[in-house]
Amino acid sequence: MTDNNHSLADSRDSGASVLTGPGAAAILGRGKSDAGELMRRRTRSVGASLLFYEEPVHIVRGEGCFLYDAKGKAFLDCYNNVVSVGHCHPQVVNAISNQAALLNTHTRYLHEEVVQYAERLTETLPGELSVCMFVCSGTEANDLAMRIARVASGNHGAIVMENSYHGNSSLINGLSSCGYFLGAQPDYVATVEPPNIFRGSHRGLDETSGPYYATKIDAAIDQLDVAGHGVAAFMCDSIFDTQGTLEAPKDYFKEVYRRIRAAGGLCIADEVQAGFGRTGEAMWGFENYDVTPDIVTMGKPMGAGHPVAAVVTTPEIAEKFSRHAFYFNTFGGNPVSMAAANAVLSIIQNEKLQRNAESVGGYLKMKLKDLSRKHSLIGDVRGMGLFLGVELVSSKKDLMPAPKEAKTVAEEMKKAGVLLGVTGMFGNVVKIRPPLIFSRDNADELLDKLDIVLEKLS
Ligand code: PMP
Repeated sequence: MTDNNHSLADSRDSGASVLTGPGAAAILGRGKSDAGELMRRRTRSVGASLLFYEEPVHIVRGEGCFLYDAKGKAFLDCYNNVVSVGHCHPQVVNAISNQAALLNTHTRYLHEEVVQYAERLTETLPGELSVCMFVCSGTEANDLAMRIARVASGNHGAIVMENSYHGNSSLINGLSSCGYFLGAQPDYVATVEPPNIFRGSHRGLDETSGPYYATKIDAAIDQLDVAGHGVAAFMCDSIFDTQGTLEAPKDYFKEVYRRIRAAGGLCIADEVQAGFGRTGEAMWGFENYDVTPDIVTMGKPMGAGHPVAAVVTTPEIAEKFSRHAFYFNTFGGNPVSMAAANAVLSIIQNEKLQRNAESVGGYLKMKLKDLSRKHSLIGDVRGMGLFLGVELVSSKKDLMPAPKEAKTVAEEMKKAGVLLGVTGMFGNVVKIRPPLIFSRDNADELLDKLDIVLEKLS
């Protein structure tokens, strides 16, 4: 890191509220360890689980769009979509603590909060999507959705995107093709090329792009038929996060859904990333494509960090599933989780966060496109609302991915006090996915710092 980086990072630290006073030691890492010692203890006791950044960040507090490390340094959070309403929103904190002080059980007793949330949630969804099943994570939601699809269709197979990620249970691990390098692809899963009009096998957007990528489904259906599995479900993340954040051609999903349904399968929209207003124009990512799935799964931002997730489907499919299968989840839908989820939904609606995602996201995307004219490293800027991907290439002519530079951008931005991620099939897409309360000022801070970091890389 150069001196210049230091001065940039330090000068933007002025927003940090450095904690002092009697309670500070307790908040700042419980007053026990410095980062190096904590790291050593973590390696011994937590194992080799992943940590971001070459020098990991030791976050101890969050507020709004900012995270604060143990030394009080502020980071503008452009990465964490779980807290879409902002870190430690007082309304969520109060809802959780009030309900925890009153009662916490499970869904086998009548409880107003569960029913009220299910009613409010399904009001935001189109068509017959009116029955909710509550779980604790995106993985569990997708696992249950796949089981439902198998029962409802009588088939066994699944079609997913190349480089997909849908979770970590053994069933859903099989549907997460990004991990296939670690082991064999199950024969009940077929993968299809994502509709990437920037670098896929059909580039550029015209009326043939959607149908071109949708026909890829035909070979996947044939593959599952030959293997004797048939198609139980097509599962797709509506914002294509692990494929590098894609905007599919408008008619892509319509064409895909038609083919899946003709083959007897169900269409599952994985809204774990795209849901709850993130894409700006729509509450749910699939709505950007004028389709209605048979099953919707959701999680991440649903409880602002409280582990709550859901599967929503039609009464007909839910009834078919309950006739043939048993499902119970001890923690899913407990009153504390539902209080958190009810508070989050109220904040999204009352603070008009979907509209904010649309306007601030639109502004940010426009300015990132301006930056792409200045910095040849930026090959493409895409995404919707406040879920944007900046694809870095070492040459615009042959679109050579630039993963090393993407990693450097994330590292340097961290030093400058901005947290970002990296995604995509080649690890060359800078992922911008801040809380939905992100303001234009926040966007300007991100843009100014990104401009400086990219300048140094050129
Ligand atoms: N689906 C998608 C699209 C995801 O991005 C993730 C998590 N990154 C999951 C499902 C799994 O969610 P969880 O980690 O809550 O199990």
